[in-house]
Amino acid sequence: MASSTRTPHRVKSHGRCYCRERVLAQGETLVANHGLTRQRDLRDGRPVWTGSPVPKIVASSLRRSTRADVVIVGAGISGAILAQSLTEAGLRPLIVERRRAALLGSTAASTALLQFELDTPLTQLSQEIGPKAAGQVWIASRDAVNELRTRSQRLKIDAEIATRPSLYLAGNVLDARGLRKEVRARQKLGLASEYLDRRALRHHFGIEREAALLNHGNAEANPVQLAAGYLRLALRAGARLRAPHEIVDLHCGRRGVELMTADGIEIQAKHVVLCTDYELAKIVPPSGNRLISTWAIATRPQPPAIWPQRALIWEASDPYLYLRSTADGRVICGGEDADFSDSTKRDALMGIKARRIAARLSRLMPAVDARPDYAWTGTLGRTAGACPASVEFQAIPIAMP
Ligand SMILES: Cc1cc2nc3c(=O)[nH]c(=O)nc-3n(C[C@H](O)[C@H](O)[C@H](O)COP(=O)(O)OP(=O)(O)OC[C@H]3O[C@@H](n4cnc5c(N)ncnc54)[C@H](O)[C@@H]3O)c2cc1C
Repeated sequence: MASSTRTPHRVKSHGRCYCRERVLAQGETLVANHGLTRQRDLRDGRPVWTGSPVPKIVASSLRRSTRADVVIVGAGISGAILAQSLTEAGLRPLIVERRRAALLGSTAASTALLQFELDTPLTQLSQEIGPKAAGQVWIASRDAVNELRTRSQRLKIDAEIATRPSLYLAGNVLDARGLRKEVRARQKLGLASEYLDRRALRHHFGIEREAALLNHGNAEANPVQLAAGYLRLALRAGARLRAPHEIVDLHCGRRGVELMTADGIEIQAKHVVLCTDYELAKIVPPSGNRLISTWAIATRPQPPAIWPQRALIWEASDPYLYLRSTADGRVICGGEDADFSDSTKRDALMGIKARRIAARLSRLMPAVDARPDYAWTGTLGRTAGACPASVEFQAIPIAMP
């Protein structure tokens, strides 16, 4: 969902290094011998996507020092999409991944609701950052989801991508009155959103809640197939994938950025993009980002047409429950988020959380057989105001040919 921190960190070349306010001298090492990113246990359990064959993406090892125009650190969905975009622009990025294969990070845990609606309602975000900025964030988010969908279609990436409406149920963040205000704010911005009162909600969806918003312009996908599709196209167009290699050092040298792997191999690059997600690079300022734990289940396949338009359903609550269906008719349901990132504690709670999610799903949709066929858990990032975050660094004198 749009609240999660997918954080592309870019490194630009402008003459000197900077990290937010801090200007780094040429020759200064950004990360010395302590590792660039902290290694985390990102997920546990069995995500539903592991039930079908996981696409094989062939990576090879780095054997000696090398150079590249652009190095992408991380081969999840962010690295994959970026790599494909760069190859379309005529570049041949080098992707370096520390896990033994691509797509072993957070991407495989995603429930892949490609939802432009942020966790912070538009009305609330308007109070926090002003209506103009809030409107811009929401529109940018909608455009990003549109772009991902149309781009994937254009590239013929078969990843079970489907356009879906979303149903946003009244909860402890927005009740019926709050939803009325929210629908007006969304409509004013030109977003397709309708208010459903209790009767309309019961009639169309068979759900008992005081109100909901029906919104248009969201999508869903199979995240593993999606990332694999982009990665495959990138590799076919000249990108290189090297794994398992951990980048531990990043240094602004006279000839660009110098990266060092844990096994002592040096890489020279003009640009580096850190697509390491929740294994956030230590040089990124915290800026209100926090890591939490989340859980999800997937049921067995359910009878067809289980609910209208296979809408993405979620609650205007904190924490909220959310659900979607899969191409083979399962219901994915997630939530029960907790404000800690300790993975031992997170994993130990999996059974309890899965049962709770199933019980809540059953209450919301009595017709669904809510027994978990898959259950998994993972670390999730939250940004301030639930807005997408990106941090720009540096500027390096380029002396590469
Ligand atoms: C249960 C759950 C449900 C979710 N549901 C949704 C959802 O519905 N919609 C949504 O949009 N998002 C969702 N998310 C969030 C989503 O999974 C992530 O935002 C997304 O997968 C991040 O992709 P990524 O490519 O940025 O990161 P990753 O897939 O984690 O890839 C980053 C890669 O960087 C590598 N790396 C890190 N440090 C280094 C280093 N120093 N050197 C080399 N490699 C390194 C890692 O090994 C990893 O493979 C969910 C997450 C969870 C856990």
